Amino acid sequence: MHVHIQAEEASFERTLSHIVPLFYEEVKTSYGNGDHAAADMRIRLEVETVGTTITSAAKLTDHTRSVELFARHERLAAAQASPEDRRKSIKQAMCFVLLDVLQQHTGIVQPWGILTGIRPTKLLHERLRSGVPAERAHKELREDYLIADEKVALMQRIVDSQLGALPDLYRLRNEVSIYIGIPFCPTKCAYCTFPAYDINGRQGSVSGFLAGLHYEMREIGQWLKRNGIGITTIYFGGGTPTSITAEEMDELYSLMYDHFPDVRNVREITVEAGRPDTITPEKLAVLSKWGIDRISINPQSYTQETLDLIGRHHTVQETIDKFELARNSGMENINMDLIIGLPGEGEAEFDHTLSETAKLMPESLTVHTLSFKRASEMTQHRGKGKYKVAGRNEINRMMRRAVEWTDQFGYVPYYLYRQKNILGNLENVGYAKPGIESLYNILIIEEMQSIIGLGCGASSKWVDPVTGVISRLANPKEPKAYNETYLAYTDAKIEALNKLFRIQPQLETTGV
Ligand code: SF4
Repeated sequence: MHVHIQAEEASFERTLSHIVPLFYEEVKTSYGNGDHAAADMRIRLEVETVGTTITSAAKLTDHTRSVELFARHERLAAAQASPEDRRKSIKQAMCFVLLDVLQQHTGIVQPWGILTGIRPTKLLHERLRSGVPAERAHKELREDYLIADEKVALMQRIVDSQLGALPDLYRLRNEVSIYIGIPFCPTKCAYCTFPAYDINGRQGSVSGFLAGLHYEMREIGQWLKRNGIGITTIYFGGGTPTSITAEEMDELYSLMYDHFPDVRNVREITVEAGRPDTITPEKLAVLSKWGIDRISINPQSYTQETLDLIGRHHTVQETIDKFELARNSGMENINMDLIIGLPGEGEAEFDHTLSETAKLMPESLTVHTLSFKRASEMTQHRGKGKYKVAGRNEINRMMRRAVEWTDQFGYVPYYLYRQKNILGNLENVGYAKPGIESLYNILIIEEMQSIIGLGCGASSKWVDPVTGVISRLANPKEPKAYNETYLAYTDAKIEALNKLFRIQPQLETTGV
């Protein structure tokens, strides 16, 4: 379907165009002042300001069904409003009427209103951090974005969990967290969008990659030590960081202790051991030797046919066995990732996954939601049409089921991010037993401090400690490209860190 938004104001294009895909699965959106004759649907947006009164109006014409729908909204801008605030009010007024006509057209009510950003809880943190009382902050979220009460309550629950886990959350900008990307997996899963390469494949050798990673860790670790910058959390992700051998893991963690500052006081070190087929007693012994206190073992589903279909190459029983093995080796903080909406899976399969999870009781659970478009794409090369893919309503019911189940078993939601521009308002939610929330997940989702990314596909996110302005620098995804460029990327990171923490490079390099 082609939807054309006809509006005079060019600078609102991005915001307005992002609202349309929340309602339709396959949609092309065009935007402009002209009357796009080829479009299936046209939405004309108008806005008028008289004094402090802003009036917006929308007319939707669906040419395929000869339907016309209308919406109108009026609001008062504060008399003292700055030009910037006034523009924001005009933009919101246009979003409101656009949302209104699209809701009328589809019958879909958007619980997040006009909000299209992926980190809704950031909005609440921003207000609370600047001293706005909670009740007023909630009112603003409801009125400015049309967020439903149920979602505002969820945001407050998440913010409460986060501040419980990290009471100094708003004061951590002078520290950093570290993400280390190990880009190998035993095999590549069909739905994978991460930098993950078959460990036996041809994308560069593991030892070559590790040599580059060791270099980055040494250089960055020494920079942190020289400049007195502490580390809050360290996260090994990928790929599957337990794909490498126990000896390689041992060497890596030993190097981390040698070169990073004060590792014994880092608040949390996580190693993703996502694929159960990579977990061995030797590797668990290495994790415990180095005090790694949190791992992730990811079943995704407890239906064998699904695991086979998505190319996980391990059995359901193996997940259960490796979970028990990790528990018996003393691992007391285990996360599990589940996915709603995998191909071939509906409510019955998800219920089965939940009841199997209840037998293991991991400390935390991350529930991802796969869009039906993505699920359909996954089956394209594997028996097209043979596998059912859950629709929007069924996905919503499964998401609700996850909420009820986690409530019933004493988990609290502690982070959430929304998928961008996608029908169904899909969310990924992290749940944890109170007090065992992943600190790294909170810090990265809420963008509360800089995360230094080392290794393949690792993205560094710089959060300016003074202004909060965010910028990024991503390492290459492929091991081969990484091996060729890690020296330059390490230099670029040190330069960025010097700037971020206002350190004079000449003084920094001479250690003065
Ligand atoms: S285990 Fe995870 S990172 Fe590895 S291929 Fe599968 S989805 Fe990708």
